[in-house]
Amino acid sequence: GGLVIAIDGPSGSGKSSTAKSVARARGLKYLDTGAMYRAMTWWMLENGVDVADAEAVAAAAGRPAITMGTDPDAPTVHVDGVDVGKVIRGDEVTSNVSAVSAVPRVRELLVARQREIIAEACASAPGIVVEGRDITTVVAPDAPVKLFLTASEEARAQRRSKEVRSGDVAATQAALARRDRLDSTRAVSPLTQTPDATKLDTTSLSLDEVIALVVKLADE
Ligand code: C5P
Repeated sequence: GGLVIAIDGPSGSGKSSTAKSVARARGLKYLDTGAMYRAMTWWMLENGVDVADAEAVAAAAGRPAITMGTDPDAPTVHVDGVDVGKVIRGDEVTSNVSAVSAVPRVRELLVARQREIIAEACASAPGIVVEGRDITTVVAPDAPVKLFLTASEEARAQRRSKEVRSGDVAATQAALARRDRLDSTRAVSPLTQTPDATKLDTTSLSLDEVIALVVKLADE
């Protein structure tokens, strides 16, 4: 089978850039599971589903067809054939994604789909780098390489506000802290560390340093 590299961590920890670069460096596929939860959330908002109503979200969760392109040079997300790659990064989706991803039925459906994508990548390619919140614990606990990236809240807010091109680092930090709290206190699949994942604090590391460390781990 192919190589699976599982990377978990909060937003702004450097997960996405690291995961994509490592996939490129090693000729692996790349899966952003956060984009799948964002795509599901976008569909709920677009179709007038009240995201605060967990039963309504659960009942509708099977309807959107979410398709992921796993090329690390051009990852894509489609919902029912619509390219949602940009719109899922907007404020509306970002502030509602924690509520949608806390619904067990949503996780059940998306985790099953993620495991299929991983199996496909291992059958047809050298493997895949998968990033998210529960990859090392739930989606792929048997992955030979498991990482948990962290960084100080300040460093993460600074990176995130650069990504979203907002000069308001304080507001970004508050929104990020709120999402972290929601993601790590929910009952199903919270963001937690497994003792067998390698913990990497990226606060004072450059992206290139982080990539080099992960590639080295993958080669061991
Ligand atoms: O990684 P990103 O910030 O795009 O993830 C968006 C949201 O999706 C997270 O805040 C979390 O609520 C949810 N998520 C999740 N499980 C994952 C990946 C993301 O619940 N594996």
